[in-house]
Amino acid sequence: MNRLLEAKRVVIFTHINPDADSLGSALGLYHFLTKKKKKVWVYSPSSSLPYNLDFLPGFNKIKTTLPKSYDLAISCDCGSFDRLGVEKVDAFLINFDHHASNDNFGDINIVDPLSSSTSEVVYWFLKRNNFEIPLESAICFYTAMVDDNGFFKYDRVKESTFLMAKELCEIGVNPNEIATLLTMREPLSKLRLTTLLLEGLELKLEGKVALLNLTLKMLEDTQATKEMAQEALDLARALAIVEVAILFREENAYEIKVSLRSKNRVDVGKIALEFGGGGHKLAAGFTFKKEDKEQVLALLLKRIQKELGA
Ligand code: AMP
Ligand code: MN
Ligand code: MN
Repeated sequence: MNRLLEAKRVVIFTHINPDADSLGSALGLYHFLTKKKKKVWVYSPSSSLPYNLDFLPGFNKIKTTLPKSYDLAISCDCGSFDRLGVEKVDAFLINFDHHASNDNFGDINIVDPLSSSTSEVVYWFLKRNNFEIPLESAICFYTAMVDDNGFFKYDRVKESTFLMAKELCEIGVNPNEIATLLTMREPLSKLRLTTLLLEGLELKLEGKVALLNLTLKMLEDTQATKEMAQEALDLARALAIVEVAILFREENAYEIKVSLRSKNRVDVGKIALEFGGGGHKLAAGFTFKKEDKEQVLALLLKRIQKELGA
């Protein structure tokens, strides 16, 4: 706590391809620390940010460069150091996270794998220390939380999740307004990509696994962004017979990024870790070389089959 209060120049790190939880937790802390008269940078290693998060207070303050010097670093929603997307951090590092696979890479690690989002870890940390939460922070934390737990739908949603939501509402958060801004400003390109992806849906392991393939050409044809493929993946998982949905996403000429989504029987975080990635029980990912595609798919299906059989 003293580290936080004594620091003058703070950099808050979000993860590669930052999502609402990483950015919302970081911006929530940004407003809190700025009001404490600190100079704060929110750093993103990726220059393209999700279009539907542009309403978050402070969104336009996010930087893709680092200041020359800073005396405190904070990471939000990063399960391992490589997720920060930098070679090194030149200050004392506080690691706020909720990945079970977090390897405690920080100098202080405030990690709770039982939280449905990192924003809850940050929020309860501030509350434990009796800090007042500004409205701007409340908006960021609420958005981070509902995006990561699917509006209270996924695992690890519990009493304290609703308690935090209640308290954020008391500060002035409007849930309908945030839900509308977050989920109801979809471009037509996303709908076109979703259609295209679902047309190519393949069922494996007697329908327990749904497989989607995203090529660079599909993005070019629809003018959609790669993040927009999430929607089709969620729809594939929602099929009654499906337990796990897999998305193979062509990243560039050499790499394929895999996203895994589980309904509840299979721990895909554990599987992704074995393939060199990481994540949570119900949502995880990893990356592999394009030439290994058939082999990786076969191995992945075998691994899922084993979990389903257990
Ligand atoms: P995604 O499928 O990219 O939306 O990722 C789902 C979850 O898996 C995220 O919350 C990340 O924590 C985790 N994840 C995805 N890709 C990786 C990776 N390459 N390494 C570690 N964790 C990952
Ligand atoms: Mn994340
Ligand atoms: Mn998260």
